[in-house]
Amino acid sequence: MSHIAFIALGSNLDDPQQHIRQGFIDLGALPQTHLSGQSRLYRSAPVGYAHQPDFINAVARIDTGFAPEALLDALLAIEARHGRQREFPNSPRTLDLDILLYDDCLLHSARLTIPHPRMGNRDFVLRPLHELAPNLLVPGLGPLSLLLNQCQSQQAFPLEASVS
Ligand code: AMP
Repeated sequence: MSHIAFIALGSNLDDPQQHIRQGFIDLGALPQTHLSGQSRLYRSAPVGYAHQPDFINAVARIDTGFAPEALLDALLAIEARHGRQREFPNSPRTLDLDILLYDDCLLHSARLTIPHPRMGNRDFVLRPLHELAPNLLVPGLGPLSLLLNQCQSQQAFPLEASVS
């Protein structure tokens, strides 16, 4: 059975734009998975630890047969192939992949929280997600457009102008 998941992609090391573009390809190449949407690329200032390059961010929509924890394992394997290292929280990274949403699931386990716990106040997540799903209701948080309007974090900016 197919499920809809939204995945946040972020990178600020070693040609970040290339890591994000390859990240989209890697998501679409997963077994039982189809890449059904990709946002534009955005630039955002680093959160938490400021002495590092700006981030490039984007969001992907996938249709997948993976259950949530199996999907997390698949994302961690893609991150590892991109040379991801975890030095300290909010440290620079070649590729970070987070599960934002999985159908309309509310899930909390030792390894996984969905919706992603910090998505509601991150402009660099909400803005590209809104591009893909403007009418989305985020389980437990409400309308995406409202979250975006209320978001207090620094704004993320698209690298290319909108096509519409
Ligand atoms: P980081 O890559 O530093 O953002 O942390 C990844 C870890 O966060 C994973 O190994 C997961 O166990 C945990 N985690 C909890 N919720 C999520 C989520 N919604 N998406 C991705 N990772 C999550």
